This record gives sequence, structure tokens and C-alpha cells, in this order.
Amino acid sequence: MKPKRILIHSVSCDGEGQLTYVVRIDGNIERLKTSYSANVVKYLDIDRSDAAVMGLLMFAIENQMDIESELPVSKTLYYKLIHHFIPGICTGNIYRPCIIAEVIHDVVSRGDICATGISCGIDSLYTIMEHEKNVTDEFHLNHVAFLNAGAHHFGSRELIDVLYTGRRDLAIQFSKYSRLPLIEISTNLPEVLEKYSYYNHVRYHTYMMLFCVLQIQSGISKYYYSGGYPYGMFMCGMSGHPDLACSRYDLLTLWTATNSCIEFYSTGGSLSRFDKVRALAGNEYSERFLNVCITSVKNCGQCIKCKRTLLELDAAGIINRYCAVFDVDTYKKQRVKFIKEGYRGAVKGDVYLKELMPFFYKELTWAERLIQRIRIFCGRVVSFIHPDSWKIVIKG
Ligand SMILES: [Zn+2]
Repeated sequence: MKPKRILIHSVSCDGEGQLTYVVRIDGNIERLKTSYSANVVKYLDIDRSDAAVMGLLMFAIENQMDIESELPVSKTLYYKLIHHFIPGICTGNIYRPCIIAEVIHDVVSRGDICATGISCGIDSLYTIMEHEKNVTDEFHLNHVAFLNAGAHHFGSRELIDVLYTGRRDLAIQFSKYSRLPLIEISTNLPEVLEKYSYYNHVRYHTYMMLFCVLQIQSGISKYYYSGGYPYGMFMCGMSGHPDLACSRYDLLTLWTATNSCIEFYSTGGSLSRFDKVRALAGNEYSERFLNVCITSVKNCGQCIKCKRTLLELDAAGIINRYCAVFDVDTYKKQRVKFIKEGYRGAVKGDVYLKELMPFFYKELTWAERLIQRIRIFCGRVVSFIHPDSWKIVIKG
């Protein structure tokens, strides 16, 4: 049977930062709409479809579709996709999409923006700290970027809007405080893809970033993309790993998108998460702006990422400096409970908690550790017997 095709038909810009791709997916016409802040509008490129090809690539792989573009694709990107990236990712019986497009010269550089995304998380703040002070001039950060491209998709439409607005306000505050100009980009691409199949940001976020940033590649010399995994955990090849997190192979993806105009860097992979927390000790940005919560605008102190970050700050001996962004007094009351939960997470294999928990082992007696392991065992037994009941057993 002939594979399905995504057709990239055209791209247009209204001159004020509203960019629209018209694409055909599974026979339906879709409009991929993206807005860009005024400071990058002059760099918008409507001569090629590099951004759309990268933005649609994981969707094409997962849905076994080829990508045909009536717009040309840059020669370096095309070469790297065909000869390196697609065969590297699409191993075994994973579908290898064909890219059907005319090939043209790479974009000519017109700007010297050096940027990174601003989420105010540990990885993001570490990248900013490292590239504001510790690098030579040509690598010096001079912008931060706030992308609305799937990261806030959590729960209801109302919650998505609340998270987006709150995080955008925080990015604006950070930009003013740090005096790093803010680039804002917002796209409906995740919503369009969600019409056809389940959108999982963990598998898609690097592709979404490239969709947003490649469209203005002529103005950007360097873009630092904060990695969540150490370089040693690099892994590509989806065969046997259909749910592979895209950040596991950022080194390959970002090399693929790099050309003579724009360079992408996967940053922070030389350190573990806890090493980054320790490196941020004394960093005023982190003490004022650290924001890791996955369920609300301000750090709730109760979700999985808030709990882990509180334990990390505690283990690093800097928890008392973060009273502006966390309710540290409440944490101290719940500390032992969090340590027990963290221990169970480490035993179950969470890489971040495995690194962190040895700092707290002295706080758990051998009997308490045994109890936590028994709870995990009981949870697994009940889960095996009755899959819906396991939460009841391990709760608390
Ligand atoms: Zn939280």
C-alpha cells in the first residue's frame, strides 16, 4: 500500500509576525499558525520549509507518512536528514519517512542573536548562567526565548491558558531583570497534530523548538537547548523504544539542524541534574525565578518535580536561599515523608532520584528502608493482581 503523505503546500507572512503554513494531512487542509515577536520579524523566511519539515518529522515517523514539500529544503538539512538522522532514529521496523522536496542553498546569515529558551527550570537557568559569564564573546548569550509550543499542555484548556499566561509573565519579568531581550514565539502546531494522534511533549519538544526557531534561522547565530539528560545517556534508534524521549538524542537532532548559518547546541549534558543544582548555588536568578512546577504557575511544593527539586536544594545545602520561590517552612515539616517517597522512586529506577537519594540515606534507618521496599513489593503484587488498585497501596 502506498504510504500516506503530508503535503507542505505554502507559507505566508502578514509582515507583522503572523506566519502560516498551509499543509495537507491525511487529505485535510490544515493551517499551522505561528506568531513571532517584533524583534525577530525581519528574519522570517518564507522561501523554504526547513522549519515545517523538522516540526512534522516525528509525527510523520509515528504515523508512517512521507513528507512532500512544494517549498524547497536547505541542502545541509536535507543531507543530514536523509543520510544520518532518519536512518539513525528509524531503526528496525520503525517507518522511515521519505522527504520529497527540491534542495536549495542554505540560508545566508543576517543576524547575530545568541539565544536560549527561558523556562526558569534548573536546566534553563544553568544554561543561562554558563553562557552569560563563563564563555568567550562569540558564545555570549544576548537574548532569551519564550516558546508556546506544547510545554503548557497539561489538563484542561483553562489550565493550559493559566499555565501559559503565568509562565509568560515570569519570562517577561526575567527578561527585564536580566536585561536579556525576550523573543516570543507561539504556535498551534501541537494542537493540529493532536487532531490526528496523541501528542506527547516528551517525544516532541525538540521538534517543536526547531519548528519555531528554524523559521528565523537567518537572524540567529547560536541557539542553546537545555538538555535534561547527561551526554552519557545518549540513545537513538526507536526500535524497541517507541516512547523514546526526544531529549535522549538531542545531540543528533541539534547537529542535524545546524548549518553554516545557525548552530544549535545541546547544553548542560556534561553535568548531572544534581551537579547543575550545586552549580547554581549563589546564583541570584535561580533564587528569584526558579520555577519547576508542572501543575501550577507558582511552585506548589507537592508535585513530583517540586518535591524532587526541594530535595535537591536541601541535599546541596542551599534550601534556605529559596524562600522567595518555595514554601521552605512547609517543606521542612514534610521533609521525612518526601525522603521516603524519594527513596521508593530511586529503588524503582528514577535516574534523578538514584543520584540524589544517597545524600539522605543516613536519615533512613535500615528498618525504614526495608518498609519502603516492602511497600513497593506490595504495590507490584496488587498491581499484578488488580491493575487499578496499585495507587491505593502505595499512596502516601
Ligand atoms: Zn509543583
